[in-house]
Amino acid sequence: MSTVNTSIPTVDENLLVDRTQLIDGEWVGPSSGEFIPVINPATGKELAAIPRGGADDVDNAAQAAHRALPAWRDTNATARASLLFKWAELIDQNGAGLDQLESQEVGRPSWGPPPMAGLIRFIAGQADKVQGLSLPTYTPDELGLTLREPFGVVGAIIPWNAPGPMFVNEVAAAIAAGNTIVIKPAEDAPLTPLALAKLAMEAGIPPGVINVVTGYGAEAGAAIPNHPKIRRIGFTGSPTTGSIIMEACAKNLIPLHLELGGKSPQVIFPDANLDAALPAIARGITMNTGQICAAGSRVVVFNSIKEQVVEGLAREMQKVTYGPWYEQVHMGPLINARQHERVLDYIEVGTQAGAQLVTGGRPPSGEKFESGFFVEPTLFADVAPDMRIAQEEIFGPVLSVIGVDDEQEAIEVANGTDYGLVASAWTQDVGAAVRMSRALEAGQVAINKPLGAGVIGGPFGGYKSSGFGRTMGADAVLNWTQIKTVSLTGA
Ligand code: NAP
Ligand code: MG
Repeated sequence: MSTVNTSIPTVDENLLVDRTQLIDGEWVGPSSGEFIPVINPATGKELAAIPRGGADDVDNAAQAAHRALPAWRDTNATARASLLFKWAELIDQNGAGLDQLESQEVGRPSWGPPPMAGLIRFIAGQADKVQGLSLPTYTPDELGLTLREPFGVVGAIIPWNAPGPMFVNEVAAAIAAGNTIVIKPAEDAPLTPLALAKLAMEAGIPPGVINVVTGYGAEAGAAIPNHPKIRRIGFTGSPTTGSIIMEACAKNLIPLHLELGGKSPQVIFPDANLDAALPAIARGITMNTGQICAAGSRVVVFNSIKEQVVEGLAREMQKVTYGPWYEQVHMGPLINARQHERVLDYIEVGTQAGAQLVTGGRPPSGEKFESGFFVEPTLFADVAPDMRIAQEEIFGPVLSVIGVDDEQEAIEVANGTDYGLVASAWTQDVGAAVRMSRALEAGQVAINKPLGAGVIGGPFGGYKSSGFGRTMGADAVLNWTQIKTVSLTGA
């Protein structure tokens, strides 16, 4: 008798793009003739293959985007918005399929209805509200005004941890402003972006407005900021790659925004509601297996309650269930073998440095874990602020607890890394909450919440090495425009 679990959901064939990328509205193979397998990290099984795109494919895509630009730029903004709203509608109609697809390529359990349609609608609503100014002039026979214009052909490079939201975040804002785009998804999770691009075509967004080139970062990715026709870049990923991208942009004298990593602190005051804080912090660092830029990976706690917090966090981390994406679990595997090795290395580094491994720390044993990149939810106590596990982004379900004596020390430790993406404080004292909101060096501060993402339309981005520029927010579309001052007189 077969032992196949018939309840394992399959990928929706209508959404699966296999062996092609999108250039000029056509689904085409790579110039290289080579393909890269996309693996489900929970099972090691191949889901599909993607073209190994390179500089030639990026060039084709940029030329197509350049040809599509005049008509798209001159399409009235309300009509552009309508096409984006139609795209959002198709995404809603395919919500379950997109969730399945992203779950399988990232290896996470289902998150329910995906957020992409909402993101697009928020952005589409801004498309026809891009406005200029009327300006005073020296003489009455002249008018002065500003126009907000698109940059032209733009580029974006996104990571694998939340490929759907990352894709629409860059694409929707860039094209709403009248730009045309060449985007490269991460080679580990390109299938949701390709499916979203397919729905964008179905929605009637014209050929060449959105071009998706797949492949490796050092090949297809590197060609994007180096292409002479590309006039602005959006990058989300690691600081190391961000720096490479910025160098290429510097050489070409083009602007960019960078959304990089984090080492987000969770400051716990003695008066914090621990019944709310501890489960939320454990979920925060294990959601998407800790592979979230905003994940709260450092607990900075007053020594007076440290023991109680460590015990409570250990209990909460042990409650986190894990397994393949189709089970009702909290946490899936890590994305790939390299990331698995990296997280296990960091756990070793922490142990060697003298941190106390309280719970977790290993790949789980058992048949269902054998073909996936699983690691147990891991808690370290007695972590010193300068240890590598307290300074470097692990991008896994590894939480470090650092004790402090008072608020001043808490602020110094919380701010004492190169990163500044998200920071949280847990306290019932309004005064402390206000002080922490100001003192924490991060693009997003959350009080009594772990991730700080609950605000509709909150601009998102980093302080310090977490990057610069903001996506989302009321300026999402404006960020993809440049300003022209016009002075106008009769002949
Ligand atoms: P990564 O290695 O920097 O990769 C990000 C993207 O850049 C991928 O598409 C990658 O392609 C591409 N890339 C790699 N090398 C390149 C190069 N030389 N030139 C051009 N492109 C290149 O980051 P990751 O490990 O995938 O993602 C995790 C990182 O992203 C973490 O640091 C995380 O915090 C950060 N992140 C930040 C945010 C945010 O909003 N701030 C959100 C999510 C993730 P391939 O992978 O296909 O080679
Ligand atoms: Mg994969």
